[in-house]
Amino acid sequence: MHSWIAKVAVIAGTLTMIAIRAPHGRRSRNVKVTKSHKTSLETGLLVLAWVGFFIPLIWLASPVLSFAEYPLTLGPLVAGVTCLVVGLWLFYRSHADLGTNWSITLEVREQHRLITEGVYHRIRHPMYSALMLYSLGYALVIPNWVAGPSNLVAIAILFALRVHPEEQMMREAFGAEYATYAARTKRLVPRVW
Ligand code: SAH
Repeated sequence: MHSWIAKVAVIAGTLTMIAIRAPHGRRSRNVKVTKSHKTSLETGLLVLAWVGFFIPLIWLASPVLSFAEYPLTLGPLVAGVTCLVVGLWLFYRSHADLGTNWSITLEVREQHRLITEGVYHRIRHPMYSALMLYSLGYALVIPNWVAGPSNLVAIAILFALRVHPEEQMMREAFGAEYATYAARTKRLVPRVW
């Protein structure tokens, strides 16, 4: 199979992801941050996420990663596109449900409300589930050992190092309300974990 099919999937996925996030990025600039937990670890994790996101674009645009190429086959392509579609849907829904409470980093905003409904009803980190599914999609679709898994590795590290500080921040901001919410929900996968 020709790798241009994977390239079309990556371009479409990336543009959709940017289109979903852009309005939220613009809007969140106008909502005042009341408490920032942006540590140097957070800055490092954001840089890592950007690097993971850009490596597939380097694969798209130049031959520098061609040494790590392998043949594309139908099974991973279909499974990968499915992950991309479901991941993007969940990414869209989690932004819609979080609304003005969303931040790219760990921040509490003016009139921050704890969201416990919509895709937040069963899991507390649907946006991270979405990013994992999406980057798993890249790993399956991109027939390249470097560009394929780069996003997944970055997101897995971001999640592993961010989830505890984020939950700690939410506990401090919402107290018993968050404790009750956390007790009845899972983190990433409904009913599992
Ligand atoms: N971890 C969540 C949100 C990621 S965005 C997810 O994966 O879906 C990160 C920001 O969202 C945090 O800075 C926090 O301010 C905010 N946030 C996280 N969970 C929230 C919730 N249930 N309700 C409101 N804001 C939340």
